[in-house]
Amino acid sequence: MNFLRKVILTIITLSIIASLSLTLIGCPTAEVVEETTPEETSEETTEEATNTEEETTEETTEDQSVDVADIIFYNGVILTMNDDQPQEQAIAIKDESILAVGSNQDILALQDAETELIDLQGKTLMPGFVDGHTHILLWSLITGRTLSEAQDVALKFGFTSVTEMFADEPFLEELMQAEEAGHLRLRVNAFAAYNDSILDENGNTIILKQWYPENDPILDSDRKLRIPGIKINVDGGSTPRRGCPALSEPYELDFVATDWFKGQCGSDRGDLYWSQEEINQIVADAQAAGYRVAFHAMGDQAIETVLNAIEFALDGQPNEQYRHQIQHNSLIRPDLLERYVDLDVLASLRGYFNTCDQNYYIDYHGSDRYEWNANRYKLPGLGIHVFLETDFTWDVDPVDTYASRNPNSMIHLYGLVTRQQVNKDGTICKPEPWLVPNAISAEQALRIMTIESAYAVSQEDVIGTLEPGKYADLIILSGNPIEVDPDTIKDLKVLMTMVGGKVEYCMQGEEGLCP
Ligand SMILES: [Zn+2]
Repeated sequence: MNFLRKVILTIITLSIIASLSLTLIGCPTAEVVEETTPEETSEETTEEATNTEEETTEETTEDQSVDVADIIFYNGVILTMNDDQPQEQAIAIKDESILAVGSNQDILALQDAETELIDLQGKTLMPGFVDGHTHILLWSLITGRTLSEAQDVALKFGFTSVTEMFADEPFLEELMQAEEAGHLRLRVNAFAAYNDSILDENGNTIILKQWYPENDPILDSDRKLRIPGIKINVDGGSTPRRGCPALSEPYELDFVATDWFKGQCGSDRGDLYWSQEEINQIVADAQAAGYRVAFHAMGDQAIETVLNAIEFALDGQPNEQYRHQIQHNSLIRPDLLERYVDLDVLASLRGYFNTCDQNYYIDYHGSDRYEWNANRYKLPGLGIHVFLETDFTWDVDPVDTYASRNPNSMIHLYGLVTRQQVNKDGTICKPEPWLVPNAISAEQALRIMTIESAYAVSQEDVIGTLEPGKYADLIILSGNPIEVDPDTIKDLKVLMTMVGGKVEYCMQGEEGLCP
């Protein structure tokens, strides 16, 4: 048995190291390499010696010391998203966690008479998706749906964790009650809203009554609901009362003259909600209180303002410990790309680009700038943390394969890999040459949709990959997204979704895959 062999090997190695350090301690010229005192070392050595005996005698009696699995999925393609062990055949679950990942032989050895065995028959099993920016739960309430209905849709598309990227007080209250009542069936990270996404009648931002600064962040991964950060709207979103994305140079003159523009935008450079000084202070204060900040920033002026504010707050410290993050990243001026890298800023990326409307950007941003709309696809190649935003709201029909803010995980994966869009009539819109570069492989896209989105909420140690000890948050797919023709990724289906060892979605007719 591999596990036992590993234990024995480790013990032998440890014993060798222990006796070696004893020798070194006895030698006056040698540097003491270990911090262990001689007493400790000899104690360990005797302990290990007895352990070795026990383990050796147990080898024949099977598994008294090894946990037994509740559920085993075997005979499949297990995409772990863990670089050290990328693909395996089987996975064992115990309680709410992953017990082991490995070959059919090794994992099937972890069964007893009670273990439920699921033959995957070659199907693909991978970590559940993590949506790093959605409004699926908030908007269900706005549109008169229930939290349960909204969770059903997320689970059906394989999301085991969602980040609600705007949570005002009443919504947080609602989420807390749902958690308390045991009604959260997936993991929810909520970013407490700092200001509203719409402006007042004078074009000023509206600061909301807030969870922060009266409360500490909730970072406990034992809970279904966490509040790891605050959300700040920094510029418009091209809808009435929100204003337009803030640009450093005016929008195209012809475009500014249109009724559409006059109806949406506060100025010919869009709408920036804060001065640099204001936002610097807000970010520094939130950071000091233990919050990360997520910024809605679409235009290059808003992005630059945010980068400055992050630089001010970090004051030379690494962003690794705070994880401030920019949402949307729609129009990145080329000189700003290296600042993302220098500051190690996290960035969200919409998987499904509205390729059918690509020519609209030429009118909107002008011939000098429209190509900057593709700069967001350079971000994953820069070595920074890029995660998925679906930005779903319920004005989109979940079965619509055209909408960019799609709730369907496979549509975003398809978009990331092909940069194509399915038009309303079902035809495919192909990207123009300016939109094609910086292709994202299926492997990289899947990382964006799992472990990187987990990193954005500091849960990379508990979800996002399939590794022993992590939560059993996983899905079974109808095909392997890494192997299939990229044009068919959009047709892949989620057959089963499990959160914390419990099946929360089972496709009709696939009950054999659902323990
Ligand atoms: Zn959003």
